[in-house]
Amino acid sequence: MNRFRRFITNYQFSLLAWLLIAILVIAGFHFGVDKKVIAFVVLLVGIIGQAFAALIAWIALIPIAGPILAQVLSMPFVWTLNGIGYLLSISAIKRGYSKDVIISSTLAYLAFTLSAEPRHHLVLSGGDRTPDTRIEEIYAPFDTLRTDLEDYRWPTNASTVITSSFADYRRTHFHEGIDISTNNQRGHPVYASRGGYVSRIHVSRRGYGKMLFLRHPDGFLTAYAHLQKFKDSIEVVVKELQKQNKNYALEVDLDSTAFPVDKGDVIGHSGDTGTGGAHLHFELRDSSMNPINPFLSRHFSSLLRDDERPFFQRIAFTAIDRSSRIHGKWRVWVVDARRSQTGEFFLNRRVHVKGSIGISVRVWDRSNALKHRTGPHRFEVFLDGAQIFTSAKKFIPATESRQIATYYDRPLVKKRLGQFEKLYIESGNRLPFYNRLPEGAGIIETHDLQPGPHELTIHAFDLSGNQSVLRVTLMIGK
Ligand SMILES: [Zn+2]
Repeated sequence: MNRFRRFITNYQFSLLAWLLIAILVIAGFHFGVDKKVIAFVVLLVGIIGQAFAALIAWIALIPIAGPILAQVLSMPFVWTLNGIGYLLSISAIKRGYSKDVIISSTLAYLAFTLSAEPRHHLVLSGGDRTPDTRIEEIYAPFDTLRTDLEDYRWPTNASTVITSSFADYRRTHFHEGIDISTNNQRGHPVYASRGGYVSRIHVSRRGYGKMLFLRHPDGFLTAYAHLQKFKDSIEVVVKELQKQNKNYALEVDLDSTAFPVDKGDVIGHSGDTGTGGAHLHFELRDSSMNPINPFLSRHFSSLLRDDERPFFQRIAFTAIDRSSRIHGKWRVWVVDARRSQTGEFFLNRRVHVKGSIGISVRVWDRSNALKHRTGPHRFEVFLDGAQIFTSAKKFIPATESRQIATYYDRPLVKKRLGQFEKLYIESGNRLPFYNRLPEGAGIIETHDLQPGPHELTIHAFDLSGNQSVLRVTLMIGK
């Protein structure tokens, strides 16, 4: 019975939405909107998409098999139905029902938004893969970086100001390099960071615009994007190829003979080609094209002039499974951090938690007096003085860039609450950010803790080693 009550509580908005949509349908009939359009669009786009969320939760209540069944069923089915809904909308528009479709879609969308609930977070138990193999697979490619990081030269004299850091949030991927400010100007010379040869020329109207890849003798690559122009000899070849292909966009791979370069050679000039204003996007990749944080080079990080600490803006507490509670509810709870006179961050209340709790934080870092906000470089989390989590954005596997959603909390981004970084390793996370910690690390399990207050401290570090601390008191009931 308790489960049933929980279902009602979790899905009260869904159930409300059903009622609301029923009213909308009646209203639609009353105001003479075409019957077929009401039936198809409201029903398919609205009700089924939403009703199914509740149905899934119903299924998830079935003991043992329920959660698995629910997870298997959920995604493709909802997509298919929504897809049918959109197709029907399109055909309805073609038949001249466009106004009705827009009205009913808007109503369905409103109903859907109103009924949004915390999240379906069905956690399945471990699986049979041994954690050691998984960790080896993830970390082994980065164990030995066979390159001399101190041999790389800063690629521009325009500035040493970073406007976007390595692994910063992008909607569909991690930022795979760093953005260096060119003071919003074009035309700064761009230098080869090391000797080697031009291994790829990329030209596009959007994205990276004009971009060069250099391959260095140890197989590592550096890339330079949004260039205004390439050096003359490359520019001549590019223009010729564009003429031949009758296309501005270009992607050419080259061997070592075409354009060899020495460290410090001017390979082009900075610009604003592609997406975004004038800046230089710079990447470092290993021989397998995995992006590496260029600031692992001590020479690079010594160029940064930053003595400002990272700034904790908000913290989110996420109930990982349905039996977990934050302040008595199954939910995601977001609260602003406050800063004390001494510069430490804290919350103005204790946080009552029960079950499995994930923490994520919105933190930014900026260098002295500059407006650019970037993500901090690394985190450490301690519970009652013992380290429970650590992360650092050092490498991104080239094939895993879409894991962005396992690192940043996508639902909170969608709610426009900001880019929260998760301080726990969710099931399925394949990022080498965590110093070989196993899946589940960082999740606070209150069952393992004594009732009463517990101190959680979160440390955020920037690339210059500046550090901020956020202190939280967790209250655990009996
Ligand atoms: Zn960039």
